[in-house]
Amino acid sequence: MIPVVKPFLPPKKEYTKYLSDIWKRNWLTNMGPLSNELEVRLKRHLEVDHLLFINNGTMGLQMAIKSLDLNGEIITTPFSFVATTSSIVWEGCRPVFVDICSESLNIDATKIEEAITDKTSAILATHVYGNPCDVVLIDEIAQKYNLKVIYDAAHAFGVKVGEKSIFEYGDISICSLHATKLYHSIEGGIIVVKNSDLHKKLASIRNFGFETVESFSELGINAKNSEFHSAMGLVNLDYIDKITKSRERIYNRYNENLKTLKVRRPKWHKFSKNNYAYYPIIFENERQLYNTMMYLKRHEIYTRRYFYPSLATSLPYVETKKLVVTDNISKKILCLPFYTDLSIEEIDMICRLIIDAQNSTE
Ligand SMILES: *Cc1c(COP(=O)(O)O)cnc(C)c1O
Repeated sequence: MIPVVKPFLPPKKEYTKYLSDIWKRNWLTNMGPLSNELEVRLKRHLEVDHLLFINNGTMGLQMAIKSLDLNGEIITTPFSFVATTSSIVWEGCRPVFVDICSESLNIDATKIEEAITDKTSAILATHVYGNPCDVVLIDEIAQKYNLKVIYDAAHAFGVKVGEKSIFEYGDISICSLHATKLYHSIEGGIIVVKNSDLHKKLASIRNFGFETVESFSELGINAKNSEFHSAMGLVNLDYIDKITKSRERIYNRYNENLKTLKVRRPKWHKFSKNNYAYYPIIFENERQLYNTMMYLKRHEIYTRRYFYPSLATSLPYVETKKLVVTDNISKKILCLPFYTDLSIEEIDMICRLIIDAQNSTE
């Protein structure tokens, strides 16, 4: 059986080493020493100034919206994970969907302006599969109309645009450290902000809004993460280069094996390099996707229609909106199995089956 993703697990010994320290200290959660150490190491690794380690990426999106006091309408992408939209609604705002670009699969920045009304307060865009949005144009539009920008960078761990971390764009970026992501702390997330005031505010929000033990500065929530999760984050950070190298090999092998297949892939940002978080392919039509998916499933190989269906047509709490490019792409895109210890033999087998499936569809 080959699943679509499999969480990375480091050697058990390296994790249990941290556990002995936790037992000695008896400090299990609440911004403990391991959580602090992880924040310091992540800041250095990502080359960012202000970062908070929290309990998950979804909470990060909600805290971002809350901390910027957003209201009214938020312009967003329908081609993302449900948390991108649900967090807008959860925070009492209304998502306004703008279609995606058929090449990058990110929000089409050239269509944002026509969606702006006097109720628009922000843009919330996703760097889909780790591929950076048109951050320059989005920034220009935000400045012109005085809007805030939040990036759902859940897929974009380690990505840079030019020399700069992708997390430094916009007012706030969030990343998910969930077990199925490229780099993880079992459950977890990070929030990156550019200034220390906002950092301080978010730190207070993370901890129930406490300013001191006996006073409050904010409406807060519990977004802290534990020492056990921090320990997993610390061990996995030692492996991030190995993880990336191994996934690059898998990525290239897929590319090589599937050269003759009639599919296309997202077009990557000119000044950025893939972080090998996902392996999506776009078929010529839904029938080919479906046949391939079912053919692989009969051989116990599991793929995922990620993202399908469009968030603008599937959520019971938002008005349905048809969007030509999103509806088209989401029907034809499939993510293939992609995880760090997927072997070359397994990739070759998957690719043979995909080619068989496509030949039998024609
Ligand atoms: C995983 C993911 C999230 C949610 O992150 P969690 O840590 O699971 O809460 C949000 N947005 C996107 C695009 C994701 O892939």
